Amino acid sequence: MENKDNKQTPKGINNFSKFSVIYLLLGILMFYMYQSYFTTQKTTISYSQFKKLVSENRVIKCTLSDRYIKGVYKGKDGKNKEFITVSVKDPNLVKDLEAHKVNFSGTVTNTWLTNLIFGWVLPFGFLFFLWWIMTKKMRGTSGGLFGFGKSRFKVYLNEKPDVKFSDVAGAEEAKQEIEEVVEYLKDPKRYQRLGGRAPKGVLLVGAPGTGKTLLAKATAGEAGTPFISISGSEFVEMFVGVGASRVRDLFNEAKKLSPCIVFIDEIDAIGKSRALNSMSSNDEREQTLNQLLAEMDGFDSSVGVIIMAATNRPEVLDPALLRPGRFDRQIIVDKPDVNGREAILKVHIKKIKLGNDVDVKTLAQMTPGLVGADLANIVNEAALLAARENKDAVHMEHFEEAIERQLAGLKKKNRVIKEDEKRRVAYHESGHAIIAYLLPGADPVHKISIVPRGLSALGYTQQLPTDEKYLITKEDMLDKVAVLFGGRAAEEIVFHTVSTGAQNDLMRATDIVRAVVTQFGMDEKIGLVVVEKPGATRFLTSEGIMKEKDDISEKTKELIDEEISKIMQNSYEKAKQILLENKDKLEKLAKMLLEKEIINEEELKLIMEEDEDGKD
Ligand code: ADP
Ligand code: ZN
Repeated sequence: MENKDNKQTPKGINNFSKFSVIYLLLGILMFYMYQSYFTTQKTTISYSQFKKLVSENRVIKCTLSDRYIKGVYKGKDGKNKEFITVSVKDPNLVKDLEAHKVNFSGTVTNTWLTNLIFGWVLPFGFLFFLWWIMTKKMRGTSGGLFGFGKSRFKVYLNEKPDVKFSDVAGAEEAKQEIEEVVEYLKDPKRYQRLGGRAPKGVLLVGAPGTGKTLLAKATAGEAGTPFISISGSEFVEMFVGVGASRVRDLFNEAKKLSPCIVFIDEIDAIGKSRALNSMSSNDEREQTLNQLLAEMDGFDSSVGVIIMAATNRPEVLDPALLRPGRFDRQIIVDKPDVNGREAILKVHIKKIKLGNDVDVKTLAQMTPGLVGADLANIVNEAALLAARENKDAVHMEHFEEAIERQLAGLKKKNRVIKEDEKRRVAYHESGHAIIAYLLPGADPVHKISIVPRGLSALGYTQQLPTDEKYLITKEDMLDKVAVLFGGRAAEEIVFHTVSTGAQNDLMRATDIVRAVVTQFGMDEKIGLVVVEKPGATRFLTSEGIMKEKDDISEKTKELIDEEISKIMQNSYEKAKQILLENKDKLEKLAKMLLEKEIINEEELKLIMEEDEDGKD
């Protein structure tokens, strides 16, 4: 299976090299024929051979010039053959020829013209022809490099990519959000007349290989517009001192092609926050970034150019990039869950011949944490394995082998979570979810996931507040703390040990409890005193550490710490108690989570309610 959309081999480049090889071969062939026609069709003989032929009376006729002698002689087999030989200053030649009655004539060769044509015009014409073919291909409609010789950087232009949304599987939310961009690109002016606020910049956020490039390409494909892509690192790395001018060139080109999509991959390479590396200021990158911002502000949205950018580290981006009128739309392209992986596998499997023992669902279950690019690789690899064995279809064993290889490769890069880790994460998140479900003060659970995101979070429980509350009671706050402890408590109940996975939970819980005690006057012992100003950072202020607490007596400080740890301990016990009472639900939820990886609100409700019915 050919992976057309792979970043490393842009489509245009592929075509380009294929074509140039064909033309090169053709050219070499032509050159060879040209050479052989003019030089080897006649027998080249030496002058002495020629004289010998004359003396043997075998030369029938010849033409003399100051550079060569051409003619016809009788071969050994009696047939007439043409010959050519280099002319030598020989005063006896004419005498010899007359003596042997050779019919001869002389010509004055005007060699400069033939020299010019064969020595210069033809070879150069030929080279020019080759160059013309190449550059034409490069500029051609099938894609390739453009701005050749002008902006001197690699931009891949893909005139109307043939990728469609149907080629992007399992990213339904992202596709829905991007639909608007497609509508806009189809007819920018009409879109604006109808009152839509035209999009300008769209930031795709997600791990490598999740299909961000593919999605951007599909957006162009759906709208039927050209797709210009460049990588952020190329902007900065290739030539020093021209980053800004390259941005200008890029936008000029884009405006000419509009409506179109400009896709900047790895935008963090140029868009890194200026605050983050104020120590080592990088002028080159800063100028490039400033130019990009200026260009984005510079054109109004009726121009019909959409800038799409991809990153897997949105947190390092300069906030200026995210302001209104720039990349103000951010679309998360998540790692796929089981169903997503199944859908992606199905897209890629279409291109190969499948044995009837292949169960795509099982394959999806075997590949947790893998992204679209990994899955595409697996299908490719499986097809290769089958081909090597001369099978006429790809079978389950090939897929299993391919998955094993892919996982082994990823293990080296530390990208695979181990099975026991996954189990721990499942129980941890289930713990959060069950307590959030049962305690009235906690926000309802929207989604529980054990699909790893990034490096730190192995799973998450997403809660959404039902409606905005302006007043939160102490009970509500303590319920929230219990939810945060749910993960750790579940780990303790099931595994009898706790892991570092609860660290973030602990920090958030501490923050809430501290606020309860010190800011809201909700603690009996501390009383109705605000000992810390709300919003003050406890750790660092401009003047030093913990300034706020300096006017508090030592005794109060101790009391605060005591109260905090008491409330924390109580909350933890409460969480643990609830989970112990609902251990069957914990088991059930964790098992389901391990299987499905993502559980939504309704599914959680089903588990929680169903069990209750069973007991009664
Ligand atoms: P990213 O830009 O996020 O690093 P790419 O778009 O380059 O990822 O994805 C690389 C390849 O992986 C794609 O060309 C495609 O073959 C495959 N792929 C990734 N995500 C998907 C998906 N959702 N559906 C189908 N194929 C996918
Ligand atoms: Zn947690």
